[in-house]
Amino acid sequence: MKSRNNLIKKIWTYLIIFSITILSFLWLFQVIFLDTYYVWVKTNDMSKIADKIYNNYNTDEFEDILDSLSFEKDVCISIVINDEQTYSSNGFSKGCLSSMESNFAYEKYKIEFINSQKDEAEYRIIDNRYQNQILIICVKLNDSSYAFVSTSLQPLSSTTNILTSQLIYVTILVLILSLLISYFISKKISQPIIKINKNAARMAKGDYDVTFDTDSSISEIVQLSNTLKEAKDELSKTDEIRRELMANISHDLKTPLTMIKAYAEMVRDLTYNDKVKRESNLNTIIEETDRLNLLVNDILELSKMQSNKLALMIQEFDMNDLIKSIIKKFDYLEEQNNYKFNYENNKKLLVKADKKQIEQVIYNLISNAVKYVGEDKQVIINIIDKKDTYRVEISDHGKGIKKDQLDLIWDKYYRTDKTHKRSTSGTGLGLSIVKSILNKHKFDYGVKSILNKGTTFYFEINKK
Ligand code: ADP
Repeated sequence: MKSRNNLIKKIWTYLIIFSITILSFLWLFQVIFLDTYYVWVKTNDMSKIADKIYNNYNTDEFEDILDSLSFEKDVCISIVINDEQTYSSNGFSKGCLSSMESNFAYEKYKIEFINSQKDEAEYRIIDNRYQNQILIICVKLNDSSYAFVSTSLQPLSSTTNILTSQLIYVTILVLILSLLISYFISKKISQPIIKINKNAARMAKGDYDVTFDTDSSISEIVQLSNTLKEAKDELSKTDEIRRELMANISHDLKTPLTMIKAYAEMVRDLTYNDKVKRESNLNTIIEETDRLNLLVNDILELSKMQSNKLALMIQEFDMNDLIKSIIKKFDYLEEQNNYKFNYENNKKLLVKADKKQIEQVIYNLISNAVKYVGEDKQVIINIIDKKDTYRVEISDHGKGIKKDQLDLIWDKYYRTDKTHKRSTSGTGLGLSIVKSILNKHKFDYGVKSILNKGTTFYFEINKK
């Protein structure tokens, strides 16, 4: 509620400042300087008329122009040539000085102007008939001709009075309106913010069921709620990964740990004197420790990958070199177990990707092919040169994967052969790591498999 009040106060202050500025201008122009402004506008108008007369002197339509000017602009024009008045607009404009008394005044400024030898002059005299001021603009047309344009200046005091009383009402109204408007604006802004704030506080406590939908039309508020929505999704994902990881780790670590404990106890209590049995027991312990190691590494790798902590370090490198160095790691299999790694490529394969992560992908796929290799013990690595990418295929002639399992093998901890879980070493995490890395690179990937014929995993990597 406090924030709402603050917002109302702030918006009200700004609106009041804004209104007062506008009102001050209104007061200044409408009331205080109205007289000055009126005379200024009139004088300007009259100067324009005088210019027009000057410019049209000696033309054929001169008199017509004078007639229409005096009629349209409500001014009185007289032209004096050689001290004789040759033209006088005989309208009923208050600006015309027609009475005797005024004629006298007229004579006075006329003579004064003609004697002054000025090109242009401005006079103001009081017309006693109407008690108003008369503004006269005098222009010299040539050496002996003069034009006099006059108009009456209306007294503005009554107008000013009306405007003043109106402006008092306007001022009060504007101030009340700005209070009301600031209340509604602040309500419109603060209500969605208060709602978002409440939900953000719930999210901070770990409740990810909150929604940040807003019906506000203010784009900044919509942006704020979208950002919080993204933050919520990210947080809930991390939270889910953390929970899953805890559950899986405790489950997966338990089996090898139980075995290690059991075999260690067996050595301590039973087989410590029997060399053969003791060694067999100790080997099991070592194998299980290796398994644990593998598991922990994979889990760490995957959790890093999925929480997006491992940023991509895109670089250019030769994939031919990389594949060869990975195959080298499996040399011992070629020597001891007659495995065959078929990779026939000698040219550079310049690509652009995160080298370490792609190494992990290729390593995981080759070690899967090794794990599930066919009787021929052949692992085939094939490169297809495409327009913008290289397609890397890793195949084996093993037992293959059933069609309905092709989509599932990419899931965490999914293993097709659940019955013999411990016969082939594996954590069920290899392909989810591959999937995470390739997704992050936005590279295409997939698997094709024919039962009892073999399996081909592939991915496409961007060329340099
Ligand atoms: P694992 O550690 O069990 O190999 P992966 O995530 O690497 O875990 O693979 C998931 C499952 O996909 C494996 O358990 C296996 O059943 C199947 N799979 C993976 N690669 C192959 C392959 N080349 N041939 C047959 N099955 C495979």
